[in-house]
Amino acid sequence: MGKITGFLEFDRKDETYVPVKERIKNYKEFTKPLKENELKDQGARCMDCGIPFCHSGCPLGNLIPDFNDAVYQGKWQKAAEILHSTNNFPEFTGRLCPAPCEEACVLGINEPPVSIENIEKNIVETAFKNGWIQPKPPLTRTGKKVAVIGSGPAGLAAAQQLNRAGHTVTVFERDEKIGGLLRYGIPDFKMEKNVIDRRLEVMEKEGIEFKTGIHVGVDITATELQQEYDSLVLCGGATVRRNLPIPGSDAKGVVQAMDFLPQNNRRVDGIPFKDEDISAKGKKVIVIGGGDTGSDCIGTSIRQGATDVINFEIMPKGTVDRPEGQPWPFWPMRLRTSTSHKEGAERVFSISTKKFNADKTGKLTSLVTAEVEWIKQPGKRPTLKEVEGTEKEWKCDLVLLALGFTGSETTIADQLGLEIDPRTNIKASAANYKTNVPGVFVAGDQRRGQSLIVWAISEGREAAHHVDTFLMGSSGLPLKGEGDLPRV
Ligand SMILES: Cc1cc2nc3c(=O)[nH]c(=O)nc-3n(C[C@H](O)[C@H](O)[C@H](O)COP(=O)(O)OP(=O)(O)OC[C@H]3O[C@@H](n4cnc5c(N)ncnc54)[C@H](O)[C@@H]3O)c2cc1C
Ligand code: SF4
Repeated sequence: MGKITGFLEFDRKDETYVPVKERIKNYKEFTKPLKENELKDQGARCMDCGIPFCHSGCPLGNLIPDFNDAVYQGKWQKAAEILHSTNNFPEFTGRLCPAPCEEACVLGINEPPVSIENIEKNIVETAFKNGWIQPKPPLTRTGKKVAVIGSGPAGLAAAQQLNRAGHTVTVFERDEKIGGLLRYGIPDFKMEKNVIDRRLEVMEKEGIEFKTGIHVGVDITATELQQEYDSLVLCGGATVRRNLPIPGSDAKGVVQAMDFLPQNNRRVDGIPFKDEDISAKGKKVIVIGGGDTGSDCIGTSIRQGATDVINFEIMPKGTVDRPEGQPWPFWPMRLRTSTSHKEGAERVFSISTKKFNADKTGKLTSLVTAEVEWIKQPGKRPTLKEVEGTEKEWKCDLVLLALGFTGSETTIADQLGLEIDPRTNIKASAANYKTNVPGVFVAGDQRRGQSLIVWAISEGREAAHHVDTFLMGSSGLPLKGEGDLPRV
């Protein structure tokens, strides 16, 4: 432990942001980092608890007190080694993770928790700046070939781990660039895409082959790949969007968030797109859905020049503090306010959309809502009830549906005869990531349903261990929390 009295001496200090009116002029990241001495003080706040609950809060089992201590001591390279021993891509999680570790931090019981996520980001940025993140190709090759299908965080983590074990890894991606939702879902103001590119450069130099523009199941069948490769790792994400099947949902101007966001990311990146231009410029925008995707639609609409943005959430407004029945160290369902929310969106809770109205040309003009309440019954799921007399019409020109994903696509599962669950995700146990077909594994959102980047990386790493065991009889690749220290 660095400073025994650190948590008594130093308050939590977070990075700050470029003011709203400046940052919404472009799509760049807008955080202002803390100074090195301030970060050391933040590392010193870690109490090195006898039982570090933060470890179990983190789906990767990151060795948090160890890297906090190294930061406090100014040993940044050591901190980077510790961090990379459990996390292939801390530059993604350090920017985008909701940080369940911080909700599990012991200091968080009666003080603001240690700023773990920000420390993580600064460690990896320091490591890149100093050239400590260098390609580490394996010393020998096993002669085994693995195809990873899908290049989101799960596919990338699986690929890097399997390559480290000496297997020859090819990543297949149907989009024109690698990265999955990191590249085409998450806007640049949350993570600029050069953050992905610099990591890909390292991975390519390590010997991983990336094949883009190949839709497995369509351009090449999964069965053909199965014949060519010793193992397949499916990391195709949970891409089937939830619809809102209410009257008028075919109005021109009712748009899926996952048509709007990827198009804008392509626009920002200068990648041409074939579909019709969708723009919030000069429009009254309503975003339906209060999660990460909804929040990203808000920030993007504001940057595109929407006249006003309203965000609907069907759930009641959460409390700022932990709700009753969700004690520390569990993840609490409380009110979360993103930087995009703070850029000027009006948030409306406990509201349900009943229909869309359009003019004679089919263009969206308004929508109609009702307030709802959730009825709790012992032993049953809460049910939704409309509050009588609360119907309201809202003028709008663009509605963005950010309602989440219902499951994964089934083409590959059909071709390989894979079992799927009722949500169409591919069935495999988290104990070994094996599907019902020998040699075929699945990880990330395609297995667990829509989730988080940190879970995708965790599943990619764990699956790689089991693929390696399948190919070689045993594996030296670490499982959760084990780390593999020498590799940065
Ligand atoms: C808008 C948005 C914002 C989000 N923000 C956050 C956030 O801030 N923090 C967070 O933790 N999580 C966030 N998430 C969730 C997070 O992005 C996902 O949980 C994570 O990316 C899942 O990783 P994955 O590797 O399983 O799949 P994905 O990232 O979905 O990648 C799957 C890839 O597989 C490719 N693919 C699919 N099928 C095929 C095929 N047949 N052939 C070839 N390629 C194929 C797809 O094109 C895609 O590139 C967000 C999600 C969205 C939609
Ligand atoms: S990956 Fe997420 S949960 Fe894990 S230490 Fe980093 S911020 Fe915390």
